[in-house]
Amino acid sequence: MSASKSILKQHSSDLGDYTGGNDTTAKAVKEVTAPIAGCDLSLEEALHCLPIGFSIFDANHKLAFCNKRYRELFDLPQELTAPGTAFGDILRYHIETKNGRPLNDEEKKGINNWLINHAKKIDDEKSFSQINQSFDSRFLRAQYTRLAPGGWVDLQEDITEKLQSDRKVSFLATHDALTRIENRRSYRVKLNGMLTRSRKGDTNIGVILIDLDGFKSINDTFGHPFADKVLIMVAQRLRSALRSTSVLARLGGDEFAIAESMERGAIDAAIICKRLLSAFEQPFRVDGVAVPLTASLGVALAPQNGTKDEELMKNADLALYRSKKVGGNTFHFFEKEMDVDMRKRLALESDLRSSIKDGDFILHYQPIAKVDSGEIAGCEALLRWEHPKRGLVSPDDFIPVAEETGLMVQLGAWVLSQAFHDACKWPEDIRIAVNVSPVQLRADNFVENVKSALVNSGISPNRVELEITETAILEGGRDKIYKTLVALKELGLRVALDDFGTGFSSLSHVHSFPVDRIKIDGSFVQGLGDQPTKSLAIVRSLTQLANSLGMETTAECVENAEQLSVVQAEGCTEIQGYYFARPTTAENIGIIALSKSDPKSQS
Ligand code: C2E
Ligand code: CA
Ligand code: CA
Repeated sequence: MSASKSILKQHSSDLGDYTGGNDTTAKAVKEVTAPIAGCDLSLEEALHCLPIGFSIFDANHKLAFCNKRYRELFDLPQELTAPGTAFGDILRYHIETKNGRPLNDEEKKGINNWLINHAKKIDDEKSFSQINQSFDSRFLRAQYTRLAPGGWVDLQEDITEKLQSDRKVSFLATHDALTRIENRRSYRVKLNGMLTRSRKGDTNIGVILIDLDGFKSINDTFGHPFADKVLIMVAQRLRSALRSTSVLARLGGDEFAIAESMERGAIDAAIICKRLLSAFEQPFRVDGVAVPLTASLGVALAPQNGTKDEELMKNADLALYRSKKVGGNTFHFFEKEMDVDMRKRLALESDLRSSIKDGDFILHYQPIAKVDSGEIAGCEALLRWEHPKRGLVSPDDFIPVAEETGLMVQLGAWVLSQAFHDACKWPEDIRIAVNVSPVQLRADNFVENVKSALVNSGISPNRVELEITETAILEGGRDKIYKTLVALKELGLRVALDDFGTGFSSLSHVHSFPVDRIKIDGSFVQGLGDQPTKSLAIVRSLTQLANSLGMETTAECVENAEQLSVVQAEGCTEIQGYYFARPTTAENIGIIALSKSDPKSQS
C-alpha cells in the first residue's frame, strides 16, 4: 500500500460518519448545482472546467464544494472531496503526502495553530494570496476570499511553469548568455548595492577590471566559435579563483569585472589579482588546441579611489590601461597621475583628429644606400606632425595614439598616397618604402587602399616596399596577414620586415611569409659600440638568416664609419642612418637624386 493510500485510510476513519454539513454548506451546494440561465450547463459543471482549483469552505471550515482541478492539484481521494470534509483534514492529508509519513503530535499541534491563524487572517484581510509548494514540488498560488455568511472561496493556480519562465527571463536579463556569469547591468546593480552597504560600515570595495591580452588574434586565427569556448573557460577559471561572495561579470567582448569587499583594501586586492593572473598560467585547451593567454588587470578601491560605481570603473579602467601599456599579464592600482595622463592623451587624440582634417602632416624621406656602391637605393617615408601649438610632434609620441584610436587607418592611407605621389617625381630607380601600422594591415580594405593609391599616383608597383613588423603578423592573425601579404605581392609590391630582432624574431615568420627584406633594428647596430660581442652575434645571425633565405638586409641607424664597416663585413646589402643621410623633405630628395651628388653633403 502506498504512503498516500495508508494516510488516506487513517483520514477516512478520522472523518467518522459525517452526514450532511450545516445550512451554509447546503446553500452553497445548492448554488453551485443550480443551472445557469439560458445554457444547458450547471454552474457546477462550469466550475469543473476551470483550469484553476476552486473550492468553497463554510463558516465551520468544512468543504462545501471543490472542482476537478482542485482535487487534481492536491491529489485528493474521493473521501476528502465530499462536502463537509474539514479543511484541516485536507491540509493534513496534503502535508502527510508531501512528507511521505503520518504527522507526529508536534506537527499536528503546529497545523492546528496554523489553521486558527489562517482563518483569522481571512477574517481580518477579507482577501489575500500566498504561494505554497505542493507535495510534488509544484508552486501553487492560493487566493483566499472571505464570504459574507462566513467561510471562504479558495482559488489554487499552478504557477510552476510561469515562475520557471520568469526566472529564466530574469536570469537572461542579468546574465551573460555565453559565459552564464553576470552581465554589465547586473554588475552595476550589485556593485551599487555593495557600495551602499559599505558606506554604512567600514569595508573597502574593490573593483577589478580584466581584459584579455591579444584576444583579437585568437578570434581572427581560430574563428568566433573557438574564441567563444575560450571565453567560457576563462569565465570558469576566474570564477574558481574567487570567493563565492565576489561578483564576477562579463562586461562584453573579452572584458570581465569583479567586485568584492576587501577588508584590508589594497593588500587583499593584490592577493586576488595574483590569484586571477595565475588562473591564466595554464594554456586554454579547446578542441585539442592549447591556447596560451594572459590578462591585464586594473584595480580601483572604494572609498579611496571613488565612491560611485562609474568613477570606480573609470579609474579601474585607467589602471588596466597602464597594465596593457607595459605589455599585459600584470595588474596595476589606480593612481591619480593616471587620470592626468589620460586627459593628456585625450587632448592629443582630439588634436590628432582636427589635424587630420586640417592636413597638418607632412612626410620626410630618409635615403637608404646600397652598401656596395653608396648609391641611393630608395627612401623611407617618415611621418611628421606639425601642430600649430604643439610644434613638431615625434611619430613615436602620436602613432601609438593614432593606432589605439583607429585614426591610423585614415592617416596611413594618406601616407601611402602622398608617398607614392612624391616618389613619382624622383628617378625611376629610387624605391619608396612606406611604414604600415598593424592597425592598417589588419583592416579589411587595406589591399584596396594600396591598389587605389597605386592607380591614382601612377607609380610602378615594383618601386614600392611596404615595411611591416612582426607584431603586425602576430596581432593581425597569421592566416589573415599571410593572405594580405600574398595579395600585396600579387600587385607587384615588395615587403620588408621592419625592426627585426626586437620582437620574437621567429624564423617561422620569416621563411613562411612572402618577405623580401629584413631591416635589422637600429638598436643592434648601435649596440656594436656598446655591446660589441652580443650585437655582432645578432647582426651576424640575422644577416646569415636573410642571406640563406634569399632576402635582402638593411641595417638601420648606421651613424658612423665603424658601424658601416661592420655591417658591410657581415654582408648587409643596404644601410640607412645619419651617417649616410638624415630624413629630409621630398623636394630635397628630388634634388639629391637628380644631381646624383653624395647625399651626405645635402643633409
Ligand atoms: P622606423 O620605421 O624604424 O623608422 C626609422 C626611425 O629611425 C626614424 O625615426 C628615423 O628618423 C630614425 N633614424 C634613422 N636613422 C637614424 C640614425 O642613424 N640614428 C638614430 N638614432 N635614428 C635614426 P622617426 O622618423 O622618429 O620614426 C620613428 C618611428 O615612427 C618609425 O620607426 C616608425 O616605426 C614610425 N613611423 C614613422 N612614420 C610612420 C608612418 O608613416 N607610418 C607608420 N605606421 N609608422 C611610422
Ligand atoms: Ca620603418
Ligand atoms: Ca625600423
